[in-house]
Amino acid sequence: MADRTKYFIGNWKMFGLSGSYKILERINSFIQRDKKNNKKYKVIIAPPFTLLDSFSKRFKGKKIKIAAQNCYEKDNFGAHTGSISPFMIKKTGVNFIILGHSENRALGEDDKVIKLKVSLAIKNKLNVIFCIGENKKEKKNKQTLPVLKRQILSVLKKGYKFNNIIIAYEPVWSIGSGRVPSPVELKKIVIFLKKFVNKKIKSKIQPKLLYGGSVDKKIIYNLKSVRELDGFLIGGASKSSKNFIDIIKNFYK
Ligand code: PEP
Repeated sequence: MADRTKYFIGNWKMFGLSGSYKILERINSFIQRDKKNNKKYKVIIAPPFTLLDSFSKRFKGKKIKIAAQNCYEKDNFGAHTGSISPFMIKKTGVNFIILGHSENRALGEDDKVIKLKVSLAIKNKLNVIFCIGENKKEKKNKQTLPVLKRQILSVLKKGYKFNNIIIAYEPVWSIGSGRVPSPVELKKIVIFLKKFVNKKIKSKIQPKLLYGGSVDKKIIYNLKSVRELDGFLIGGASKSSKNFIDIIKNFYK
């Protein structure tokens, strides 16, 4: 039977100080109390690099899991000032990593580099949350599906197993804008992507597919009608425990 576990993943981007663990503690306590639904979902939070080591130690064995937001594409150690390798991330006890985020693509990260990052992250036994998505112009020019296909085919290798890769569909025009695709539009894309990935990458395991872009406690009511979705990647609303918990609560209402 297909695994129907939902994922609620928070991307903190450039936010958080050492005391921000309290946000995670509140979310963790909520999950513990949420006996009715807590077996149906997993929560992962991606703080900045500066907090990975302390958060992963503090939340070891707890409900909430920790993810990194990016990594360097080569080597375990080396002369790469300001960079952090998947090997170093794994050594902090972290098991997840977000890769291919549009904010990093906008800074010049291309498919070739993302491919190296995904490959090295998997080699280091990190579970990858791989972000794809079209921008406003591409959407306007009806290029959404060709763009998504290109992003997938140029990064994911044939034979990858989807027990360690989650795909997050994040339309760039939706991130931080308050605009989201309609449920009908989103459903079409999600069904297309799942079939496309299965056919092209030839994995026996169904890929998990998340949606990301302006998810909040209100929009979640619309998005939850897209049953094919396996969860959500949440930016702005993940920085507040209340907002994040409300998203989960409203999803199961
Ligand atoms: C993101 O950056 O991954 C994201 C989904 O951001 P937001 O929820 O703020 O649109």
